[in-house]
Amino acid sequence: MKKVLEELNDNGFKSLNYNLDLEYDKALENEDFKKLVTDLKLARKFLIKYTSILEKSSKEYANCSKCKGIFECKNKILGHCYVPKVEDDKLIFEYKICKYNIDLEEKRKHQKNIYFSHVPEDIKNASIEDVYMNDKARFDVIEYLQKFINDYQKKKEMKGLYLNGSFGCGKTYLVSAAFNELAKKGYKSAIIFWPEFLQELRSSFESDFKEKFDYIKKVPLLLIDDIGAESVTEWARDDIFCPIVQYRMENHLKTFFTSNLTLEELEEHFSVTKGKVDSVKAKRIIERVRQLTSDMSIISKNLRK
Ligand code: ADP
Ligand code: MG
Repeated sequence: MKKVLEELNDNGFKSLNYNLDLEYDKALENEDFKKLVTDLKLARKFLIKYTSILEKSSKEYANCSKCKGIFECKNKILGHCYVPKVEDDKLIFEYKICKYNIDLEEKRKHQKNIYFSHVPEDIKNASIEDVYMNDKARFDVIEYLQKFINDYQKKKEMKGLYLNGSFGCGKTYLVSAAFNELAKKGYKSAIIFWPEFLQELRSSFESDFKEKFDYIKKVPLLLIDDIGAESVTEWARDDIFCPIVQYRMENHLKTFFTSNLTLEELEEHFSVTKGKVDSVKAKRIIERVRQLTSDMSIISKNLRK
């Protein structure tokens, strides 16, 4: 019986090796794979056990060799390549950061100073240098923001902006570009996409809620993005928005708003909750927003692609 088992094992092992050999030879037909395993300088009998994982790695390598920038990355983890390396005579695999990603991380170092809540990548990376200068409609706003960047913390009476305009005209981009510039100087800010942030707060547990709410109240620079796009509830207006603007006003914390609505339209928006009209409350809130900001509008085409 023992002999039969030994024979079976032996045959099983042989056929396993045979399959590994076949798979490895097939993979070797690919030039990228061939180059990768040749560079590893390991014995074939060892490498054949790793064919499929080496294939994965060689595909990622090949993607990297053709790549011209992180935004074309085809690999599984953005800006990383799955690479084999030999350590203590063992073959191990790891995700290695690519050169474009290192450059990008360097460029984005300052972004640790900005808290983003539901903000798309292009807005996160907005920069004053890349701002389109071909449209006069934005000049006044750009000028205001430049001044704000230069004078922030030098002049106490400076105000944020209430920036209104149509969808896609570049409101969020411009304020975000200014915050990025200020982040490079070490100033902390937050960019909050208001409708989503409210949803997030609503579903947060108590301690989490308090932490987020307090942070937004107290962060030195704040952009409340797309105010007026949320559905108004008494909770959102009286328990969230109002205390935030009240606190920021009392403590001279610079606050920006973007909206598709003018301030007059925002007042109307805030005056109705579930069919209940409260124009006095709405007026009071808008007064606070006016205290915090200079009112500007952009009339321009939709830049969204
Ligand atoms: P809004 O907030 O007014 O709806 P966004 O700021 O989101 O519009 O801008 C719409 C798109 O146009 C974004 O994808 C952004 O990348 C681009 N964009 C807007 N303004 C500029 C600008 N001044 N320079 C470069 N790109 C811009
Ligand atoms: Mg916007």
